[in-house]
Amino acid sequence: MESDPKSLQAVMEAPTLSGKVITVFPKDDGFNNFIKSVILKNEVQNTKQPFYVLHLGAVANLMDQWVHSLPEVRPFYAVKCNPDPTLLAAMAALGSGFDCGSRAEIESVLSLGSVGPDRIIFSNPCKMESHIKYAATVGVNLTTFDSLDEVEKIRKWHPQSSLLIRLKSPEDARVQRQASDSKFGALPEEVVPLLRAAQAAQIPVVGVSFHVGTAVKNFRAYAAAIEAAKAAFELATRLGMPQMRVLNIGGGFTAGQGSFEEAASMVRAAIHTYFPDAEPRLNLMAEPGRFFAESAFTLATNIIGKRVRGEAREYWINDGIHGSLAGEVALECGNGNLSRCMPLAGTSKEVFSSTVYGPTCNSLDIVLKGYWLPELVVDDWLIFPNMGAYSSAFKSSFNGFNTSLFSTYVVTDAGSFSSTE
Ligand SMILES: *Cc1c(COP(=O)(O)O)cnc(C)c1O
Repeated sequence: MESDPKSLQAVMEAPTLSGKVITVFPKDDGFNNFIKSVILKNEVQNTKQPFYVLHLGAVANLMDQWVHSLPEVRPFYAVKCNPDPTLLAAMAALGSGFDCGSRAEIESVLSLGSVGPDRIIFSNPCKMESHIKYAATVGVNLTTFDSLDEVEKIRKWHPQSSLLIRLKSPEDARVQRQASDSKFGALPEEVVPLLRAAQAAQIPVVGVSFHVGTAVKNFRAYAAAIEAAKAAFELATRLGMPQMRVLNIGGGFTAGQGSFEEAASMVRAAIHTYFPDAEPRLNLMAEPGRFFAESAFTLATNIIGKRVRGEAREYWINDGIHGSLAGEVALECGNGNLSRCMPLAGTSKEVFSSTVYGPTCNSLDIVLKGYWLPELVVDDWLIFPNMGAYSSAFKSSFNGFNTSLFSTYVVTDAGSFSSTE
C-alpha cells in the first residue's frame, strides 16, 4: 500500500523534526544502498558500532493503514515500545496520542512541544506516587487502575483525574506470554468493588481498558475482551454511575501480512456486536506500540568473530540479548526464532547452518541457532529488519556493551514523498 503523500508531508514538516537529517533514497534498491553508504562513513568505520535506520515513510504508511482499517479508533502510541524521539515526533505529526507508563515517558512526549496533556493517557495501572503527583502538575488527567490501593493513591494525589478500569483480558491465559496472566487487570468479580471504591472516592470512571498482550496471534482475544468491557459498562450503569463512554482496546497489533486487517475486522465486528447503540457516543481508543515501531527500524550489526566447526559456522556480532534482542527474550516471542537477518555481503551460493552469538560473556547470549547463511567473514555486516519493537527500548550496558552508543539514521523513500528536490 502506497502511503498518502499528505501523511508523510506532515511528518517531514513537523517542527520537532526540523534540524534532523532525513535522507531521501530512491524507491527501489535505495534502502540497501543507503545502509552500505552508512557503513562507509568514518564514524561507523572507526567503531563498527551497530546502528539503526528509521524509515519515516514506513511510519506514515502504517498510520494510513490504521486510519483505513480502524477509522473510529484513535491510536495512543505506546511509548515504551520504542521511545526514539524522531519516532515520537513523527507520531505526533501524524496526530497520534500517547500511552505513557511513567513520569519520564510523559516528559519526553511533552518535550516535543506539539502535544498537549490531553493527548496522553497514563496507562500504567500501578503508578509511583511521585509520578501521579507529576501527572497532576502537568494535567495528564486520564489513567487506568485495577486495584483498591490505586484508587486511594489517585484520590490523595490526583483527584482531578478520570479513570479507566483495566480488565483482565479473558483470553490472557491462551496468549503466548504466560507471565501476563496475573499481573494486570481486574478479575470479573473485582469489577464491582473497584467501581464502588472509585464512586466513594468521587473519581469518575469514564470507561474500560484492556491489553491482550503484545503480538497476539489469537484475534478472538479482542472480541472476548470487548464483550467483557460491555459487561463492565452495564455494571457501572447498574451501580448508578454516569454512563461510561471510553473503550480502550490496548495494543497487541502487528503490521505483517494481513494480520492487522484480520485483527481490525475482529475489533470492528465485536464493537458492532456489543456496542451497537453506543457507537456514536463511544470514544474508542487503542494503545498500539509494536504496530507502528516494529517494521520502521532496521538494525545493522558487525560480525566481530567467527569459528568453523566442521560444516557448522559460528559468528559473533556486536549486539545481542542484552541489547536490541532483549525484548525477544523478555517477551518470549523470540528465543532465536523470531529474529531474521540477512547478510549485506556474502555472495557465496552455498549456505551453512549457522549460529549467531551476541558479544557478551553470557553463554546464553545467542541470537540465532541453525540459521542458514552464506559463508561470511569477520567485518561483514548482518542486517536485521523489523527491529523497532522492544529492542533499543531495553537499553543496557551489560558487560560494557553500551547500546546507547548506537546511532539512528533517519530516511524515507522518494516514492512516498512527492515534493523532494
Ligand atoms: C505495552 C503496552 C501496550 C503496547 O503493546 P504492543 O503489543 O506493543 O502494541 C499497550 N497497552 C499497554 C497497557 C501496554 O502495557
